[in-house]
Amino acid sequence: MESSLKHTALLDLEAIRRDFPLLSRKVNNKPLVYLDNGATTQKPTAVIDALTHYYSYQNSNIHRGVHRISQDITVAYEKARETVQQHLHAAYPHEIIFTKGTTDSICLVAHSFGKKYITAGDEILVTEMEHHSNILPWQQFCEDNGAVLKVVPVTEEGTLDLKALETLLTKKTKLFALTHVSNTLGTINPVKEIITLAHSKGIPVLVDGAQAVPHLAVNVQELDADFYVFSGHKSFGPTGVGILYGKEKWLQQMPPYQVGGGTIKRVTFAKTEYADLPLRFEAGTPNIEGGIGLAVALDYMNNIGMDRIAEYENELLVYATKQLSVIPGLRIIGQAKNKASVFSFVIDGMHPNDIGTLLDQQGVAVRTGHHCTQPLMDRYGIPGTVRASFAFYNTKAEIDILETATRKAVKMLA
Ligand code: PLP
Repeated sequence: MESSLKHTALLDLEAIRRDFPLLSRKVNNKPLVYLDNGATTQKPTAVIDALTHYYSYQNSNIHRGVHRISQDITVAYEKARETVQQHLHAAYPHEIIFTKGTTDSICLVAHSFGKKYITAGDEILVTEMEHHSNILPWQQFCEDNGAVLKVVPVTEEGTLDLKALETLLTKKTKLFALTHVSNTLGTINPVKEIITLAHSKGIPVLVDGAQAVPHLAVNVQELDADFYVFSGHKSFGPTGVGILYGKEKWLQQMPPYQVGGGTIKRVTFAKTEYADLPLRFEAGTPNIEGGIGLAVALDYMNNIGMDRIAEYENELLVYATKQLSVIPGLRIIGQAKNKASVFSFVIDGMHPNDIGTLLDQQGVAVRTGHHCTQPLMDRYGIPGTVRASFAFYNTKAEIDILETATRKAVKMLA
């Protein structure tokens, strides 16, 4: 495949692909074509080396040691926080909370912000295109506290119904939680305009950036997001680490979520005084190497350039749409004009899992099923889709292989 890599003026794909060892693997005796980046991304050698280096030479606990390696790794961990801050263009490092991932970040906000600001009869607004991780924490909060979950519908083409949104943002709405990019449809929501609208009614907004950070430049201050969350593993970093960005004005007022070592200033049996931001929200020994590895991953993306990544991935999406949409019986799910590099489809009379299994036999890794968006599947009346999700290391040659493999699968299943 190496020789058939088509160069784009935008990226040096051969050099980039050499940075990702897993991409040179074979699967089922075929060169791997990895198109499941929405589920998780592969890691560049720089990230893998950072993890190995940490365990070989830097392993120590942070924040509490007076000895050299503990102090050095504390500095490295806090530097990683600053890298995340700069990547998101947050105002302060203490607005960056290290978590386990997107799900964990949303649970933190649901429990902590929810406890402080949302009571029985209040409304929490989500959208029909949310990942379960941005539904269940709110649904559970509503069940426990008597609040009401409201849902913004999705149009047939896969965009948010903005007219409905206007009427759903009411005096009762205490938080609007929505995804920046849909993991199933690829839709890029106009979050800046939506946040402006919500703020005009005094409603804070949480943005799920799990599928945006790997593809787009994000500026939380420009967006004016109140909370912005994402996962390390979907952004070329390690698993088990993620980020909650929160505006200082909210985080300062929010009670701790999980408590324990690391979150305190002073403990007595009578009373505990909690630490300042960000440690108040980081209970226990964190994923130290994960935080450091995530910063390396963000640096890696920035070295390529987020705008170039977005432009190149759009080229891939346009190419995939052109090549695959002509396959007889294929229907694209998610036809918004503004899309990230997610290509979801169904084929008349065929189950997505059967197509996915036949693609795997040809070395092509895609995701099939409901993608943790069952309400969205219900909206379209389908059990699931086949989803090819591209990253900056994918190539048009790989899309050609996907097309050929899909045609073959269709033939076999017909
Ligand atoms: N939100 C979106 C849009 C996602 O795509 C995902 C994962 O696919 C999540 C949240 C959950 O991410 P994690 O499992 O890393 O917590």
